Amino acid sequence: MNASAPLPPGLYIVATPIGNLGDLSPRAADILSRADVVAAEDSRVTAKLLHHIGVKRPMQPYHDHNADAVRPSLIARMAAEVVALVSDAGTPLISDPGYKLVRDARAAGVTVTTVPGPCAAVAALTLAGLPTDRFLFLGFLPPKEKAKADAIVEIAAVRATLILYESGPRLAATLTTLQGVLGDREAAVAREITKRFEECVTAPLSQLAARYAEAPPKGEIVIIVAPPGEESAPKEQDINALLQDALTRLPVGQAAAEVAKATGLPRKELYSRAMALKA
Ligand code: SAM
Repeated sequence: MNASAPLPPGLYIVATPIGNLGDLSPRAADILSRADVVAAEDSRVTAKLLHHIGVKRPMQPYHDHNADAVRPSLIARMAAEVVALVSDAGTPLISDPGYKLVRDARAAGVTVTTVPGPCAAVAALTLAGLPTDRFLFLGFLPPKEKAKADAIVEIAAVRATLILYESGPRLAATLTTLQGVLGDREAAVAREITKRFEECVTAPLSQLAARYAEAPPKGEIVIIVAPPGEESAPKEQDINALLQDALTRLPVGQAAAEVAKATGLPRKELYSRAMALKA
């Protein structure tokens, strides 16, 4: 794109740094500096970024609480103006608002342009030293223990590396639940990526859970979990725990089917085991 030519109107999805401001791309800076309006999750956070590149642009807050109300007027502006969407950090739409804005913009015939850049999920994947050929991004799991375990059961048999966002205070509990459902898979905790106290610790889930239960970490965190492998096939007691949990909610046949889906074990075998547990 010619930097001196006016930008065509439309919606620009602009990724911003996840810590180190040096990661803002020149193209992202250029588009932000020429936007007619910057739709921002938190205008105070974005004001700092704009200050860093030495520009002031009009901002329109766009977050979970006002998105439905402001979306139509933002879409209307895109016909003739440059609207840039940013989130507080990283790539908009990834565990952040924006997908409905893109959906409605496209439906209205607006040109949507992406300006790719930092994303904590991908950055963590590059640090962990775990397989990268297939991965499944789970975002934030539900905070309540039961809903969290159910969400993990649902994807337990997927042969892909898992990527999750989590907060420091919940980290140890989530690692323990992951281990309970998935077995003691290899995993990594990547923290404060691109910031001063960046670290990435790779170890079996049990060791990570013990480490972070003792000292709940500060800062922003991504959990990476290796795909299922022979060595991490669920243990006897893990299978029984899964069945027992399923039996509190479901009849025997359905409980066996759910655990078969999660573990890849034969349903017939799990049915007999569930009958025995019930007895
Ligand atoms: N859209 C963002 C992206 O592209 O990564 C993610 C937004 S989500 C609301 C925020 C979560 O991303 C944090 O709670 C944390 O799990 C993860 N995260 C963001 N920045 C991070 C960093 N520098 N180091 C580790 N995790 C980070």
